[in-house]
Amino acid sequence: MPIIVSVPKETVPGEQRVALVPELVPRLTEAGLEVAVQSGAGELAGFFDDGYAAKGARLEAEVFDKADILLKVQPPTIVEISHMKEDSVLICFLQPYTNATAIRALAARQITAFSMELMPRITRAQPMDALSAMSTVAGYKAVLVAASRLPKFFPLLMTAAGTVTPARVFVIGAGVAGLQAIGTAKRLGAVVEAYDTRPAVKEQVESLGAKFAELGLAAKDAEDKSGYAKAQSEDFYQRQQEMMSKYVASADVVIPTALVPGQRAPILITEEMVRGMRPGSVILDLAAEQGGNCALTEPGREIVRHGVVIIGPLNLPSTIPFQASEMYARTVTNYLAHLLKDGRPYLDLEDELTRGPLVTHRGEVVHEIVKARLCSENLTP
Ligand code: NAD
Repeated sequence: MPIIVSVPKETVPGEQRVALVPELVPRLTEAGLEVAVQSGAGELAGFFDDGYAAKGARLEAEVFDKADILLKVQPPTIVEISHMKEDSVLICFLQPYTNATAIRALAARQITAFSMELMPRITRAQPMDALSAMSTVAGYKAVLVAASRLPKFFPLLMTAAGTVTPARVFVIGAGVAGLQAIGTAKRLGAVVEAYDTRPAVKEQVESLGAKFAELGLAAKDAEDKSGYAKAQSEDFYQRQQEMMSKYVASADVVIPTALVPGQRAPILITEEMVRGMRPGSVILDLAAEQGGNCALTEPGREIVRHGVVIIGPLNLPSTIPFQASEMYARTVTNYLAHLLKDGRPYLDLEDELTRGPLVTHRGEVVHEIVKARLCSENLTP
């Protein structure tokens, strides 16, 4: 019996992406898999049923109960998990640190679940790095949203009606999303400054034509061996706030993107700093999903405080669903290809690429950090 790989329609409100695009169906069928796509699964992203069928997928009304391998964007709901086949494989964004109930349900149902967020940061894993792919989308869109809310132009304009000065954009955190935001803001003609605790970033910021904000702060052990930022002391964050105040005050748009994996985003913009900004300025808090870098951010909402527009978007990648789906689907199919041997899932648990994103397997929560979190919340895994 060939293995059936299925792709459902996402059900989380506002989610427009799909985990597989038609162009990638042959990659799976050529590997010996049968592909079943739920009717309408790609519609919101601009991928229609006939496109999948033309590439060799079967369209079905329901896909959960027959899938040997389920590809998703968002984590499945408890009801969806109850319809999944025991011993099946799931690959999706599992939100592994906050999704205790679903993770316990997946373990109880003997599902082998991989979390795309936990992909190790090694060279071999780059084509499977879904988080970076989605950060690229978010960084780009953040600038467009902020620009459309700013009551000013971004570029310098010299017109018969006078000269328009360019907008000033300050990006805090120049990882994948931040660098994309810097590049996009530069292309729109803004004057861009940026800061990151990781010293290696300065050169990347400057190569995009932006200025690196020299705060005169030396972060201790700025990054871990995978290139992620390490959390700093409260004292450091307080000094960072003080040193950044003048950059925030002179900016028309502030785009904070600073994250520390597995933790609430650090507060880098206080209410006092918001008060120091010009009315009409915009803060687009890309860290909103992890609580926000601005003390006033309300995740999922746009608010105005002290005359400043503060936007805390959730799931920006879903607002560019066509390419976000293409990019996500490539990372997921690359990962699935890694897990297959002779057309069947084959788990080499000695391989960090297989083991790293693995959260539940054979009825157990096997990821050490996720397991520790569940235990510390008094939830028996
Ligand atoms: P991220 O989303 O975890 O964090 C965003 C940025 O916030 C990071 O640059 C971080 O240094 C910064 N930050 C954290 N605390 C801060 C603070 N107090 N002030 C200012 N900035 C702060 O990170 P990311 O974008 O996913 O990636 C970070 C780096 O890892 C990038 O340079 C990227 O190139 C690298 N990376 C490597 C691989 C790989 O090797 N496979 C994959 C992805 C990313």
